Order: sequence, then C-alpha cells, then structure tokens
Amino acid sequence: MERAELALYPFTSAASQYVGELDFELDRLINSRAFQSARLRGEERLIQSLTSGIRKPSLTNTDEGRVLTELLSYPYAKILVSCLNDPYLNRKYSHAEAEAAYSLLLEREDFFLREIGEEFGIHAKQHERGFHLHFADFLKYSTTLKAIEWKLINQRMVHGNVFVERKDFARLLQEAIKKSIHESLPLKVPEKTCTDCSGALSRLKEILQQKKGDVENGQMGEVDSKLFPPCINYAINNVRTGVNLAHSMRFAMTSFLTGIGMTIDDIINMFNVSPDFDEEKTRYQIEHIAGSSGTKYTPPSCSTMKTYGNCHGADELCKKINHPLNYYRRKMWYKNKFKKPANTKEKKGTE
Ligand code: SF4
Repeated sequence: MERAELALYPFTSAASQYVGELDFELDRLINSRAFQSARLRGEERLIQSLTSGIRKPSLTNTDEGRVLTELLSYPYAKILVSCLNDPYLNRKYSHAEAEAAYSLLLEREDFFLREIGEEFGIHAKQHERGFHLHFADFLKYSTTLKAIEWKLINQRMVHGNVFVERKDFARLLQEAIKKSIHESLPLKVPEKTCTDCSGALSRLKEILQQKKGDVENGQMGEVDSKLFPPCINYAINNVRTGVNLAHSMRFAMTSFLTGIGMTIDDIINMFNVSPDFDEEKTRYQIEHIAGSSGTKYTPPSCSTMKTYGNCHGADELCKKINHPLNYYRRKMWYKNKFKKPANTKEKKGTE
C-alpha cells in the first residue's frame, strides 16, 4: 500500500507496521506540539462518529504532513475511546470507521478489495460480476446483517463458495473492519496518558452525554416524550432499567415511536442500555416495523393492549381514547392549543 492509502485505511496491519517503524514515544503523540494537528483530527474523528459520520480527506503521497496527521489521528482516537471506555462510544466509533472505509472501498479496484479481504482472513476470488468466497468466511461477517437477502440460504453457492456482487463484498468488508476495531477496544492505556488527554476527554464526554441524554430528556426532534401514554412510558422505563420487554410490548412501543415520527437512531439509543446490545439486530427490527419491507406497522389498539396485559397505569385521558396514538395526538392538540405564539411579547404589569 502507498503512504496515502495507509492513512485512509489505518486499521490495516500495513498501516500499524508503518506507524511502528516511525519509532517515536507515545508521550510525543500525546503531548508534543508537533502532533497537535493529529490530536485534533483524532478528536474530530470521534465527534464525527457521534454526529455526522467520519469524513475522510482526499490525500496524495506528496501531502506528507497531512498523510501523517491522518495516519496518527487513528491511534490517538483509539486511545481516547479506550480512556473513556464507554460501550456506546466503542460501538459508534467502530461502526463509523467501518462505514467511512466502505464508502472508499466502493470506489476502489477489485484487487484492492481482495487485499483488504486478506487482511481479515477472507480469501476471495474474482468472477465476472463480483467475488466468490468460502461460505464460512461469508457467515463469519454476514451474521450481523439481518436483512433476509443476507441469509445463506438465499446465496448462490457452488462447491462451498458463495458468490457475491462487488458492493456486497465491500459490505462484508465493512462488517469485518467494524468487528476488528470493536474487538481491539479498549486498548490498555497507561493512566498517565489518559490524564494527559483530560482536555479532549472532557470535551468528548460532554458530547457523549449530550448525545445519550437527548433521548433521556425527551429531546427527540419534534417528538415530545411528556405526551406519551402511560403504557408507553411504562415500557420505556422498563427498557431503561434493563428489564426485558415481552415481544408484544416491544412491538407496541417501537411501532408507537416510529408512528409519531421518532428517528430510528433515537429509538436505537433507547434500547441501547446493556453491554451486549446488538445494534444491527435492533436496527433491522425497528426498520422493519417502520416500513422498510413495504408495510409500516401501527401500534395495537387499547383493547388489544389490554388483552395482552400491556395496558399499564391508564389515566383519565385513557377513558376518552381507544388507541395509544390518539392519546399522544390529543395531548399534542391540547399543548398546541394553549401554547403561546412565538412572537407574543410578555405583557408588562398593568399600571
Ligand atoms: S388505555 Fe390505551 S393508551 Fe391508556 S395506558 Fe392503556 S393502552 Fe395505553
């Protein structure tokens, strides 16, 4: 790989070997002014992974300074992730790095994709419309992809080899990259190093708390959690305290939240409370309920909720409605009716 490529694919063994051969002390990366731009870019990688997704620069081998900055920002970002050691951040970061790599891989030549595959033990061969690889390699990285088209039974298989199109091979590589980065975290970082990074860590903590707290505080875009019916609040409280919901209640809660326009990411954040949380699986289930397969599901009526034992804490308003979504709409109507128009000025006290 060329130098610029090492910077764009910093998770490869060639990139870490290159960094190792630079032979400088970790302390210099953390504290020297010479590496400030690498530290800033490393911090930016993490902020982007929590917000917009990691954006890769366009680099050439002659951009020596920028190549080095980009290359070193990767181990620095991993140091910060390791110091914070937050399962949510670990997942978001691994996912964002892999997603950014996937976008680049789609533009690359076939031999390069095969080279990246070798990095993760995937011995793929080219054929006229894509690649074929051993079914065990396919399974290793496709089990996290829940869409029906990724099931082994739906693949073209000949003599134990699965045939995949080019973009699907790149998608498998994305999963391999994510798995590899996620499993490498947290690194064993000396306590002093984390202390030296305290400025960056407290900035990141703030963004992380804000990101995780948005859902906790009911800040869900246009959605107002204070208007949720008692049954949905009951389900949300259970989820937040790690209690497993019955399938029917999980469906009711998810379809209610998608029904009122909550984003899929915000719903995922709600379910994201345990270290073994499976983001891909949860995303697939939510997207399915939200209509990815052509049918958008709505929550059950109050009478069905009662039949399944999912009506909890019904209040006065519940007596006037027959559907959890109507509860929310009714409360929203009241809220808007009594809301002060934005341009209404406070009246001064009368004389
Ligand atoms: S009556 Fe309907 S909206 Fe109210 S708590 Fe029961 S299921 Fe929910």
